[in-house]
Amino acid sequence: MAYPDYWNPRIETMPLDELRAIQNIKLQKQMRYVYERSPFYRRKFDSVGIKPEHIKTVEDLAELPFTTKEELRQSQAECPPLGLHTAADLDRVVRVHSSSGTTGRPVFVGITEYDRQTWIEIVSRLWWTQGTRPNSRMMIGFGMGIFVGGLTMYDGLMNIGAMFIPIGTGASERMLDTMLAFKTDILACTPSYAIYLAEYARNKAGIDPGTLGIKRVQCGAEPGGGVPGVRDRIAADWNAIVTESIGSADVSGIYAAQCDELQGNHFLVPDYVVYEIIDPDTGKVLPIEDGVSGEIVITHIDRECVPLVRYRLRDHMLVATAPCKCGRTGHRLRCVGRTDDMLIVLGVNVFPSAVKDVVSELRPRTTGEIQILLDQPGPKVKPPLQVRVEHGPDVQDLAALKKEVEGVIRGRLVVPAHVELVPAGTLPRFEMKAQLIKKLYE
Ligand SMILES: [Zn+2]
Repeated sequence: MAYPDYWNPRIETMPLDELRAIQNIKLQKQMRYVYERSPFYRRKFDSVGIKPEHIKTVEDLAELPFTTKEELRQSQAECPPLGLHTAADLDRVVRVHSSSGTTGRPVFVGITEYDRQTWIEIVSRLWWTQGTRPNSRMMIGFGMGIFVGGLTMYDGLMNIGAMFIPIGTGASERMLDTMLAFKTDILACTPSYAIYLAEYARNKAGIDPGTLGIKRVQCGAEPGGGVPGVRDRIAADWNAIVTESIGSADVSGIYAAQCDELQGNHFLVPDYVVYEIIDPDTGKVLPIEDGVSGEIVITHIDRECVPLVRYRLRDHMLVATAPCKCGRTGHRLRCVGRTDDMLIVLGVNVFPSAVKDVVSELRPRTTGEIQILLDQPGPKVKPPLQVRVEHGPDVQDLAALKKEVEGVIRGRLVVPAHVELVPAGTLPRFEMKAQLIKKLYE
Protein backbone atom coordinates (compact mmCIF):
# COMPACT_ATOMS: atom_id res chain seq x y z
CA MET A 1 0.00 0.00 0.00
CA ALA A 2 1.29 3.47 -0.87
CA TYR A 3 1.41 5.93 2.00
CA PRO A 4 2.08 9.67 1.82
CA ASP A 5 5.67 10.89 2.21
CA TYR A 6 5.04 13.06 5.26
CA TRP A 7 3.01 12.79 8.44
CA ASN A 8 2.32 16.54 8.53
CA PRO A 9 3.15 17.93 5.07
CA ARG A 10 2.09 21.49 5.96
CA ILE A 11 4.61 21.92 8.77
CA GLU A 12 7.30 19.57 7.49
CA THR A 13 7.67 21.29 4.12
CA MET A 14 6.74 24.86 5.06
CA PRO A 15 9.22 27.53 3.89
CA LEU A 16 11.23 28.69 6.89
CA ASP A 17 10.22 32.36 6.66
CA GLU A 18 6.57 31.35 6.86
CA LEU A 19 7.38 29.15 9.82
CA ARG A 20 9.24 32.00 11.50
CA ALA A 21 6.11 34.16 11.40
CA ILE A 22 4.13 31.41 13.16
CA GLN A 23 6.95 30.90 15.66
CA ASN A 24 7.06 34.60 16.56
CA ILE A 25 3.30 34.72 17.24
CA LYS A 26 3.43 31.58 19.38
CA LEU A 27 6.55 32.84 21.17
CA GLN A 28 4.83 36.06 22.26
CA LYS A 29 1.92 34.10 23.71
CA GLN A 30 4.22 31.65 25.46
CA MET A 31 6.32 34.43 27.01
CA ARG A 32 3.19 36.01 28.54
CA TYR A 33 2.08 32.61 29.84
CA VAL A 34 5.47 31.82 31.34
CA TYR A 35 5.72 35.21 33.06
CA GLU A 36 2.25 34.86 34.56
CA ARG A 37 2.46 31.21 35.57
CA SER A 38 6.06 30.41 36.49
CA PRO A 39 7.60 32.16 39.55
CA PHE A 40 11.02 30.97 38.39
CA TYR A 41 10.73 32.78 35.05
CA ARG A 42 9.03 35.86 36.46
CA ARG A 43 12.09 36.24 38.70
CA LYS A 44 14.44 35.68 35.76
CA PHE A 45 12.70 38.20 33.50
CA ASP A 46 12.58 40.76 36.33
CA SER A 47 16.29 40.27 37.08
CA VAL A 48 17.15 41.78 33.68
CA GLY A 49 14.23 44.23 33.59
CA ILE A 50 12.50 42.52 30.65
CA LYS A 51 8.72 42.24 30.36
CA PRO A 52 7.21 39.49 28.21
CA GLU A 53 5.94 42.02 25.68
CA HIS A 54 9.56 42.98 24.91
CA ILE A 55 10.07 39.57 23.33
CA LYS A 56 8.45 39.81 19.92
CA THR A 57 10.73 37.64 17.80
CA VAL A 58 13.02 34.65 18.22
CA GLU A 59 15.97 37.05 17.79
CA ASP A 60 14.77 39.05 20.83
CA LEU A 61 15.37 35.99 23.01
CA ALA A 62 19.05 36.99 23.16
CA GLU A 63 17.96 39.69 25.67
CA LEU A 64 17.08 37.00 28.21
CA PRO A 65 19.43 34.95 30.41
CA PHE A 66 19.94 31.24 29.82
CA THR A 67 18.34 28.48 31.88
CA THR A 68 20.59 25.64 33.04
CA LYS A 69 19.90 22.13 34.28
CA GLU A 70 21.48 23.12 37.60
CA GLU A 71 18.87 25.86 38.00
CA LEU A 72 16.06 23.39 37.28
CA ARG A 73 17.49 20.99 39.84
CA GLN A 74 17.71 23.81 42.38
CA SER A 75 14.17 24.90 41.55
CA GLN A 76 12.88 21.37 42.24
CA ALA A 77 14.78 21.20 45.52
CA GLU A 78 13.20 24.51 46.54
CA CYS A 79 9.70 23.54 45.52
CA PRO A 80 9.30 19.78 45.13
CA PRO A 81 8.34 17.75 43.21
CA LEU A 82 8.28 19.66 39.89
CA GLY A 83 9.88 22.99 40.82
CA LEU A 84 9.17 26.71 40.64
CA HIS A 85 9.68 26.73 36.88
CA THR A 86 6.56 24.59 36.40
CA ALA A 87 3.62 26.51 35.00
CA ALA A 88 0.73 24.06 35.49
CA ASP A 89 -0.93 22.76 38.66
CA LEU A 90 0.11 19.29 39.74
CA ASP A 91 -3.50 18.09 39.43
CA ARG A 92 -3.36 18.70 35.70
CA VAL A 93 -0.19 16.62 35.20
CA VAL A 94 -1.00 13.31 33.50
CA ARG A 95 2.48 11.81 33.31
CA VAL A 96 5.92 12.33 34.78
CA HIS A 97 9.25 11.56 33.14
CA SER A 98 12.75 12.23 34.28
CA SER A 99 15.54 13.65 32.21
CA SER A 100 18.67 11.56 32.28
CA GLY A 101 21.59 13.73 33.20
CA THR A 102 25.15 12.57 32.82
CA THR A 103 25.79 14.19 36.20
CA GLY A 104 23.73 14.92 39.29
CA ARG A 105 20.22 14.06 40.42
CA PRO A 106 17.70 13.57 37.60
CA VAL A 107 15.17 16.35 37.02
CA PHE A 108 11.46 15.46 36.82
CA VAL A 109 9.46 16.64 33.84
CA GLY A 110 5.66 16.71 33.95
CA ILE A 111 3.25 16.81 31.02
CA THR A 112 -0.39 17.84 30.95
CA GLU A 113 -2.91 16.19 28.63
CA TYR A 114 -2.39 19.11 26.21
CA ASP A 115 1.37 18.47 26.23
CA ARG A 116 0.77 14.75 25.76
CA GLN A 117 -1.32 15.42 22.66
CA THR A 118 1.38 17.67 21.18
CA TRP A 119 4.01 15.00 21.92
CA ILE A 120 1.87 12.43 20.09
CA GLU A 121 1.84 14.67 17.01
CA ILE A 122 5.59 15.27 17.33
CA VAL A 123 6.52 11.63 17.74
CA SER A 124 4.25 10.61 14.84
CA ARG A 125 6.21 12.98 12.59
CA LEU A 126 9.48 11.58 13.87
CA TRP A 127 8.58 7.94 13.30
CA TRP A 128 7.15 8.70 9.88
CA THR A 129 10.38 10.52 8.90
CA GLN A 130 12.31 7.37 9.86
CA GLY A 131 10.12 5.20 7.67
CA THR A 132 7.49 3.84 10.08
CA ARG A 133 4.09 3.30 8.44
CA PRO A 134 0.77 1.82 9.63
CA ASN A 135 1.76 -1.60 8.31
CA SER A 136 5.15 -1.59 10.09
CA ARG A 137 5.81 -4.21 12.75
CA MET A 138 8.10 -2.76 15.34
CA MET A 139 10.30 -4.56 17.79
CA ILE A 140 11.08 -2.20 20.65
CA GLY A 141 14.28 -2.61 22.61
CA PHE A 142 13.71 0.41 24.86
CA GLY A 143 12.38 0.22 28.41
CA MET A 144 8.91 1.66 29.11
CA GLY A 145 9.79 3.28 32.46
CA ILE A 146 10.28 6.89 33.49
CA PHE A 147 12.86 7.32 30.69
CA VAL A 148 11.18 9.60 28.15
CA GLY A 149 11.81 7.42 25.08
CA GLY A 150 9.53 4.50 25.92
CA LEU A 151 5.97 5.68 26.58
CA THR A 152 6.34 8.72 24.33
CA MET A 153 7.31 6.40 21.50
CA TYR A 154 4.39 4.12 22.34
CA ASP A 155 1.86 6.98 22.09
CA GLY A 156 3.21 8.01 18.69
CA LEU A 157 3.20 4.49 17.28
CA MET A 158 -0.39 3.91 18.43
CA ASN A 159 -1.31 7.14 16.66
CA ILE A 160 0.28 5.95 13.42
CA GLY A 161 -1.28 2.53 13.89
CA ALA A 162 1.91 0.48 13.60
CA MET A 163 2.33 -2.84 15.41
CA PHE A 164 4.22 -2.33 18.66
CA ILE A 165 6.04 -5.18 20.42
CA PRO A 166 7.74 -3.91 23.60
CA ILE A 167 10.35 -6.49 24.53
CA GLY A 168 12.86 -4.07 26.11
CA THR A 169 16.48 -5.00 26.75
CA GLY A 170 17.87 -8.05 28.56
CA ALA A 171 15.64 -10.60 26.79
CA SER A 172 17.54 -11.22 23.59
CA GLU A 173 16.33 -14.79 23.04
CA ARG A 174 12.69 -13.72 23.35
CA MET A 175 13.44 -10.79 21.04
CA LEU A 176 14.74 -13.10 18.30
CA ASP A 177 11.88 -15.61 18.74
CA THR A 178 9.31 -12.83 18.52
CA MET A 179 11.01 -11.32 15.47
CA LEU A 180 10.68 -14.64 13.69
CA ALA A 181 7.09 -15.25 14.83
CA PHE A 182 5.76 -11.84 13.74
CA LYS A 183 8.15 -11.17 10.84
CA THR A 184 8.88 -7.76 12.33
CA ASP A 185 10.52 -5.30 9.94
CA ILE A 186 11.72 -2.49 12.25
CA LEU A 187 14.00 -2.71 15.25
CA ALA A 188 14.10 0.37 17.50
CA CYS A 189 16.80 0.40 20.19
CA THR A 190 20.09 1.97 21.22
CA PRO A 191 22.94 1.55 18.71
CA SER A 192 24.87 -0.49 21.30
CA TYR A 193 21.95 -2.89 21.66
CA ALA A 194 21.61 -3.25 17.86
CA ILE A 195 25.27 -4.30 17.76
CA TYR A 196 24.92 -6.57 20.80
CA LEU A 197 21.79 -8.28 19.48
CA ALA A 198 23.42 -8.96 16.10
CA GLU A 199 26.37 -10.61 17.87
CA TYR A 200 23.97 -12.56 20.08
CA ALA A 201 22.00 -13.81 17.07
CA ARG A 202 25.15 -14.92 15.29
CA ASN A 203 27.07 -16.44 18.20
CA LYS A 204 24.40 -17.71 20.58
CA ALA A 205 21.49 -18.52 18.29
CA GLY A 206 23.41 -19.39 15.12
CA ILE A 207 21.26 -17.01 13.04
CA ASP A 208 22.65 -14.47 10.58
CA PRO A 209 20.88 -11.26 11.75
CA GLY A 210 20.83 -10.04 8.14
CA THR A 211 18.35 -12.81 7.27
CA LEU A 212 15.79 -11.91 9.95
CA GLY A 213 13.82 -9.56 7.72
CA ILE A 214 14.57 -6.34 9.62
CA LYS A 215 14.44 -3.57 7.00
CA ARG A 216 15.12 -0.66 9.33
CA VAL A 217 17.01 -0.12 12.55
CA GLN A 218 15.94 3.09 14.29
CA CYS A 219 18.51 4.12 16.87
CA GLY A 220 18.13 6.52 19.75
CA ALA A 221 18.92 7.36 23.38
CA GLU A 222 22.69 7.55 22.82
CA PRO A 223 24.95 8.78 20.02
CA GLY A 224 26.13 6.26 17.43
CA GLY A 225 23.24 5.82 14.99
CA GLY A 226 24.36 8.96 13.16
CA VAL A 227 28.07 8.17 13.20
CA PRO A 228 29.07 6.71 9.82
CA GLY A 229 31.41 4.01 11.25
CA VAL A 230 28.83 2.74 13.74
CA ARG A 231 25.90 3.13 11.37
CA ASP A 232 27.63 1.16 8.60
CA ARG A 233 28.33 -1.68 10.99
CA ILE A 234 24.70 -1.90 12.14
CA ALA A 235 23.48 -1.61 8.54
CA ALA A 236 25.78 -4.46 7.47
CA ASP A 237 24.81 -6.64 10.46
CA TRP A 238 21.08 -6.29 9.89
CA ASN A 239 21.06 -5.69 6.14
CA ALA A 240 18.91 -2.65 6.91
CA ILE A 241 18.62 1.14 6.66
CA VAL A 242 19.87 2.68 9.91
CA THR A 243 18.52 6.03 11.11
CA GLU A 244 18.73 7.86 14.41
CA SER A 245 16.68 10.36 16.36
CA ILE A 246 17.58 12.86 19.05
CA GLY A 247 15.48 13.31 22.16
CA SER A 248 15.36 14.87 25.58
CA ALA A 249 12.63 14.96 28.20
CA ASP A 250 13.43 18.66 28.58
CA VAL A 251 12.47 19.41 24.98
CA SER A 252 9.58 17.28 23.68
CA GLY A 253 10.48 13.64 24.14
CA ILE A 254 12.10 13.21 20.75
CA TYR A 255 12.63 16.30 18.60
CA ALA A 256 14.78 15.49 15.56
CA ALA A 257 15.14 12.47 13.30
CA GLN A 258 16.93 11.29 10.19
CA CYS A 259 15.24 10.74 6.87
CA ASP A 260 16.62 8.16 4.42
CA GLU A 261 19.10 10.72 3.05
CA LEU A 262 21.03 10.18 6.32
CA GLN A 263 22.37 13.73 6.40
CA GLY A 264 21.68 14.67 10.02
CA ASN A 265 18.46 14.81 12.03
CA HIS A 266 15.67 17.04 10.73
CA PHE A 267 14.44 19.43 13.42
CA LEU A 268 10.77 18.45 13.27
CA VAL A 269 9.15 20.50 16.03
CA PRO A 270 9.35 24.08 14.72
CA ASP A 271 5.76 24.81 15.77
CA TYR A 272 6.48 23.78 19.39
CA VAL A 273 10.12 24.65 20.01
CA VAL A 274 12.63 27.16 18.63
CA TYR A 275 16.36 26.75 18.87
CA GLU A 276 19.44 28.95 18.92
CA ILE A 277 23.08 27.93 18.48
CA ILE A 278 25.59 29.58 20.80
CA ASP A 279 29.29 29.62 21.41
CA PRO A 280 29.44 27.66 24.69
CA ASP A 281 32.35 29.71 26.02
CA THR A 282 31.01 33.22 25.42
CA GLY A 283 27.25 32.52 25.24
CA LYS A 284 27.14 34.57 22.03
CA VAL A 285 24.39 33.61 19.55
CA LEU A 286 25.82 32.31 16.27
CA PRO A 287 24.03 32.92 12.97
CA ILE A 288 22.35 29.72 11.83
CA GLU A 289 23.91 28.84 8.49
CA ASP A 290 25.10 25.69 6.77
CA GLY A 291 27.98 24.11 8.71
CA VAL A 292 27.68 26.19 11.88
CA SER A 293 28.43 24.29 15.06
CA GLY A 294 27.86 25.17 18.70
CA GLU A 295 25.71 24.39 21.70
CA ILE A 296 21.97 24.13 21.13
CA VAL A 297 19.66 26.28 23.27
CA ILE A 298 15.90 25.68 23.13
CA THR A 299 12.83 27.73 23.97
CA HIS A 300 9.33 26.26 24.04
CA ILE A 301 6.65 28.17 22.17
CA ASP A 302 3.71 25.86 22.88
CA ARG A 303 4.15 24.03 26.15
CA GLU A 304 1.82 23.96 29.14
CA CYS A 305 3.51 22.19 32.04
CA VAL A 306 7.23 22.96 31.87
CA PRO A 307 7.91 25.67 29.29
CA LEU A 308 11.63 26.44 29.22
CA VAL A 309 13.20 29.65 27.99
CA ARG A 310 16.72 29.62 26.52
CA TYR A 311 17.50 26.25 28.04
CA ARG A 312 21.07 25.08 27.48
CA LEU A 313 20.97 21.43 26.47
CA ARG A 314 24.78 21.13 26.69
CA ASP A 315 24.79 19.22 23.39
CA HIS A 316 27.12 20.50 20.72
CA MET A 317 25.41 20.38 17.33
CA LEU A 318 26.56 20.62 13.75
CA VAL A 319 23.80 22.25 11.66
CA ALA A 320 23.05 21.64 7.98
CA THR A 321 20.70 24.12 6.32
CA ALA A 322 21.15 23.14 2.65
CA PRO A 323 17.94 21.69 1.17
CA CYS A 324 17.36 17.96 1.71
CA LYS A 325 16.21 15.69 -1.13
CA CYS A 326 13.33 14.42 1.02
CA GLY A 327 11.66 17.84 0.77
CA ARG A 328 11.51 18.56 4.49
CA THR A 329 12.52 22.12 5.26
CA GLY A 330 13.64 21.53 8.86
CA HIS A 331 17.36 22.07 9.43
CA ARG A 332 19.38 18.97 10.14
CA LEU A 333 21.27 18.56 13.39
CA ARG A 334 24.02 16.19 14.29
CA CYS A 335 25.16 15.91 17.88
CA VAL A 336 28.95 15.90 17.92
CA GLY A 337 29.43 15.76 21.70
CA ARG A 338 28.57 17.20 25.10
CA THR A 339 29.68 20.75 25.81
CA ASP A 340 30.86 19.60 29.25
CA ASP A 341 33.27 17.10 27.66
CA MET A 342 34.77 19.51 25.16
CA LEU A 343 38.57 19.80 25.12
CA ILE A 344 40.64 22.47 23.40
CA VAL A 345 43.95 21.48 21.81
CA LEU A 346 45.93 24.28 20.15
CA GLY A 347 42.73 26.31 19.84
CA VAL A 348 40.75 23.47 18.21
CA ASN A 349 37.62 22.05 19.90
CA VAL A 350 37.80 18.27 20.31
CA PHE A 351 35.13 15.98 21.70
CA PRO A 352 36.15 12.63 23.20
CA SER A 353 33.18 11.11 21.37
CA ALA A 354 34.62 12.38 18.07
CA VAL A 355 37.95 10.69 18.84
CA LYS A 356 36.04 7.48 19.54
CA ASP A 357 34.17 7.85 16.23
CA VAL A 358 37.28 8.15 14.09
CA VAL A 359 39.02 5.32 15.95
CA SER A 360 35.89 3.16 15.49
CA GLU A 361 36.21 3.53 11.75
CA LEU A 362 39.45 1.52 11.90
CA ARG A 363 37.62 -1.61 13.08
CA PRO A 364 38.55 -4.46 13.26
CA ARG A 365 42.16 -3.28 13.63
CA THR A 366 40.94 -1.33 16.66
CA THR A 367 38.01 -2.36 18.87
CA GLY A 368 36.74 1.24 18.78
CA GLU A 369 37.32 1.67 22.52
CA ILE A 370 39.41 4.64 23.63
CA GLN A 371 40.40 6.57 26.71
CA ILE A 372 41.77 10.11 26.79
CA LEU A 373 44.31 10.82 29.52
CA LEU A 374 44.38 14.28 31.09
CA ASP A 375 47.20 15.22 33.44
CA GLN A 376 45.54 18.52 34.36
CA PRO A 377 41.96 19.82 34.29
CA GLY A 378 40.53 20.79 30.87
CA PRO A 379 39.23 22.14 28.68
CA LYS A 380 42.67 23.35 27.51
CA VAL A 381 45.01 20.43 26.87
CA LYS A 382 48.77 20.63 26.38
CA PRO A 383 49.48 18.95 23.01
CA PRO A 384 49.71 16.22 21.94
CA LEU A 385 46.41 14.72 23.08
CA GLN A 386 47.14 11.48 25.01
CA VAL A 387 44.89 8.69 23.79
CA ARG A 388 44.75 5.02 24.76
CA VAL A 389 43.33 2.88 21.98
CA GLU A 390 42.47 -0.82 22.07
CA HIS A 391 43.95 -2.72 19.15
CA GLY A 392 42.12 -5.67 17.61
CA PRO A 393 43.14 -9.23 18.58
CA ASP A 394 44.75 -10.08 15.21
CA VAL A 395 46.95 -7.02 14.69
CA GLN A 396 50.60 -7.95 14.04
CA ASP A 397 52.30 -4.64 13.28
CA LEU A 398 51.46 -2.43 16.26
CA ALA A 399 53.91 0.31 15.31
CA ALA A 400 52.20 0.77 11.95
CA LEU A 401 48.76 0.84 13.55
CA LYS A 402 49.85 3.43 16.14
CA LYS A 403 51.08 5.65 13.31
CA GLU A 404 47.87 5.14 11.38
CA VAL A 405 45.61 6.04 14.34
CA GLU A 406 47.67 9.15 15.11
CA GLY A 407 47.44 10.10 11.43
CA VAL A 408 43.66 9.65 11.33
CA ILE A 409 43.15 11.77 14.47
CA ARG A 410 45.39 14.50 13.11
CA GLY A 411 43.80 14.33 9.65
CA ARG A 412 40.17 14.28 10.74
CA LEU A 413 40.18 16.26 13.97
CA VAL A 414 43.13 18.55 13.21
CA VAL A 415 44.91 17.85 16.51
CA PRO A 416 48.20 16.11 17.24
CA ALA A 417 47.78 12.93 19.28
CA HIS A 418 50.06 10.51 21.06
CA VAL A 419 48.51 7.06 20.89
CA GLU A 420 49.25 4.23 23.30
CA LEU A 421 47.91 0.91 22.02
CA VAL A 422 46.53 -1.54 24.58
CA PRO A 423 45.11 -5.06 24.03
CA ALA A 424 41.40 -5.60 23.29
CA GLY A 425 39.31 -5.75 26.46
CA THR A 426 41.73 -3.65 28.57
CA LEU A 427 39.72 -0.42 28.78
CA PRO A 428 36.67 -0.10 31.04
CA ARG A 429 33.22 -0.69 29.51
CA PHE A 430 30.17 1.31 30.59
CA GLU A 431 26.57 0.15 30.50
CA MET A 432 25.09 3.63 30.23
CA LYS A 433 27.05 6.69 29.16
CA ALA A 434 30.70 5.99 28.44
CA GLN A 435 33.37 7.82 30.45
CA LEU A 436 36.03 8.50 27.86
CA ILE A 437 38.31 10.68 29.96
CA LYS A 438 40.70 9.46 32.63
CA LYS A 439 41.85 12.19 34.99
CA LEU A 440 45.40 11.47 36.10
CA TYR A 441 45.47 14.53 38.38
CA GLU A 442 42.75 13.36 40.81
ZN1 LIG B 1 15.55 14.80 4.57
